Amino acid sequence: MSVCVIGHSNPDTDSIAAAIAYAHYLKATGTDAKACAQIAADKINPESKVVLARYGLAAPETMMDAEGKDVALVDFSDIAQAPANIMKANLVAVVDHHKIGDITTGSPIFFYAKPVGCTCTVLFEMFKNNKIDLPKNIAGAMLCAILSDTVNFKSPTCTAEDKAAVKELLAIAGESDQDGLFMEMLKAKSSVDGVPIKDLVFRDYKDFDMGGKKVGIGQIELATLDQVAAIRNDLYKALEDLKKDGRHSVLFMLTDVVKEGTDLMVVSEDSALIEKAFGAKLAGQSMWVNGMMSRKKQTVPPLQKAFGA
Ligand code: MG
Ligand code: MG
Ligand code: MG
Repeated sequence: MSVCVIGHSNPDTDSIAAAIAYAHYLKATGTDAKACAQIAADKINPESKVVLARYGLAAPETMMDAEGKDVALVDFSDIAQAPANIMKANLVAVVDHHKIGDITTGSPIFFYAKPVGCTCTVLFEMFKNNKIDLPKNIAGAMLCAILSDTVNFKSPTCTAEDKAAVKELLAIAGESDQDGLFMEMLKAKSSVDGVPIKDLVFRDYKDFDMGGKKVGIGQIELATLDQVAAIRNDLYKALEDLKKDGRHSVLFMLTDVVKEGTDLMVVSEDSALIEKAFGAKLAGQSMWVNGMMSRKKQTVPPLQKAFGA
């Protein structure tokens, strides 16, 4: 029976690429294995799809139930993120970069985790140390996974080891433009083409109570603000409709991940209050707030202060 190598539920690019890479590693070291994922191939996220297509890799086989199977986990070790019946599977290995989860085993297994930015960084070290030949296309997928998990080195989780792995993987994969590669993934991930306006507004939206006033805040992350140029008026109209539904203010964060700031759309009973909260001036429908990336850390607290909440 071949070992099913599988990442966490709702897989990201690391979970997909690490499954492919570790399945290859196991095969190269004499253990029959195949890459699996907890998702149908056509439902794989747009970023991972771009990566698979770029390197001509097949999507991992869908596996939602682990009962009775030989299983290796990558990029997680929590029951909540595992396929159904994971405790009825024969767990043979875990390779990860997260805190240790709650999955336990009845016998010793291979368990390798390091506090780095990406599982593929851990796997790259394993390939190197054991002198396993790393195919160009798998190196490409691993490279992309590291760029994705570390947000192109901008994430606080990124380590020197991730950077060193990227440097070597660029060469193996025959890639020269790291930023361009990251941008291509980011564009796929943040694509708004064909997405209904309501879905965009509610993709990541929350209502807050600010000193007795209801304030809605939504956010989408973009590679460039140009991605929403054609739909700005429709977005604004949707925010106006939301405000009519009993809200004092509705804010929508168009976050430019590359420029590291947010073009903040504002529909409010008291625009001056919102301007004051962020020390910026509205120019028509929105205002640029430099450095604003996180709703939780950078948008909500100044607003709560301004509302006296
Ligand atoms: Mg992950
Ligand atoms: Mg990861
Ligand atoms: Mg991730």
